[in-house]
Amino acid sequence: MDISGKRMYELLEKMNFVRLSTFEGEKKGAEIIANEIKALGIEPTIEGFKAPRYEIKKAKLEVTAPVYKEYEVTGYGFAGNAAADGIEAEFKYLEALDSIDLVDVKGKIIFMAQGLRPEAFKTLIEAGVVGFVSAHGTFRETKDTLDLDERMLRPQHIEYGKLPGVCISMTDALELVSSKPEKVKLTLAQEEGEGDSQNVIAEIKGTEKPDEVIIYTAHYDSVVFSPGMFDNASGSATILELLRYYKANPPKRTVRFLWTGSEERGLLGSKAYVAAHEEELKNIVLCINVDMTGPLLGRDEARVTGEEAVCNALTYFYKEIGYPMNVKQDIYSSDAIPFADKGIPGINFMRVAAMGTAQIHSRYDTIKTVTAESMERTAKFIAAFSDRVINSVFFPIEKKMPENMVEKVDKYLRKKK
Ligand SMILES: [Zn+2]
Repeated sequence: MDISGKRMYELLEKMNFVRLSTFEGEKKGAEIIANEIKALGIEPTIEGFKAPRYEIKKAKLEVTAPVYKEYEVTGYGFAGNAAADGIEAEFKYLEALDSIDLVDVKGKIIFMAQGLRPEAFKTLIEAGVVGFVSAHGTFRETKDTLDLDERMLRPQHIEYGKLPGVCISMTDALELVSSKPEKVKLTLAQEEGEGDSQNVIAEIKGTEKPDEVIIYTAHYDSVVFSPGMFDNASGSATILELLRYYKANPPKRTVRFLWTGSEERGLLGSKAYVAAHEEELKNIVLCINVDMTGPLLGRDEARVTGEEAVCNALTYFYKEIGYPMNVKQDIYSSDAIPFADKGIPGINFMRVAAMGTAQIHSRYDTIKTVTAESMERTAKFIAAFSDRVINSVFFPIEKKMPENMVEKVDKYLRKKK
């Protein structure tokens, strides 16, 4: 089977830079993939879509009493400009969100050590908090090893309102709270709007059943500071290698390949694709999504957003060919979800890294954490499984979404709370 980890690794080398949604790096990533497709003699399509974009103009956190001190912060994106000229208020460390913790937070700026889930955000707004501080990293990190996270409010937060917030390092947070500040001043100014993101699409028509389409998806965008080699240049390279493979081995059914932008901003690329191609969705019988492969130490896994029968088929298959894999029926936070929402079964392939090896969403998601050999093994498995399905006499996977998966998808997409 002509699947080359070396070629995949070479693509990673070309894409070894930050590919942040709506910024230049993401666009460059799309162009690199499009050029690889062209080199195969296939005409790629680049489809643009709008994605939310913010730019922080000013973010500050100052302790104003009893002793002045300024902390290094990043501002929360999409948190508005209510604090553009600074809000000065009393400070409180909020240990938890129980009602007893909330009795005296009205009008205050709070610090919370835990993450800001939408439900927590709602509680803060209802309690009358005027600003918040969250922390990133661990006590072990210094300024040299930590890129202070650039966080943002998501639509699921904003539905409850807006609240200015900043993020500080955990080291600073420990100092801030132990210094018992009476008053702090929070400043946050930003531009909020939209920018351009894009999907890249390629297709090989089926020789016998061109109207039955299997779509492969992988996101090529990354997050701030991260060259995203594991997450998810690896998956992007995997499906490009599958495109090459099917170009050389014409499939009986049509195979379409979708490299999505802005996945990291909430699956925006796959959502845009599904919205723009509503009519064609009836022909898509399966979505195969690849999100993260390549660590040397780790384990190949598959999450089937579809019927249990697909799990069984995959399980028999990996045993038959002797390729260990962990298979479960579940959703996976990636691009198969918008397809599953339209009733299209999804199989997500990934290689989960052993703890302490590959890391995502940081500067440490580097090319060193993936290997050509490992990417090749996973890609060969996906190709072998795909062959069986794509070239089958009768398509074996029913286009049906079981109730438990519908429920999980709905919950994920916040159709249900
Ligand atoms: Zn990813």
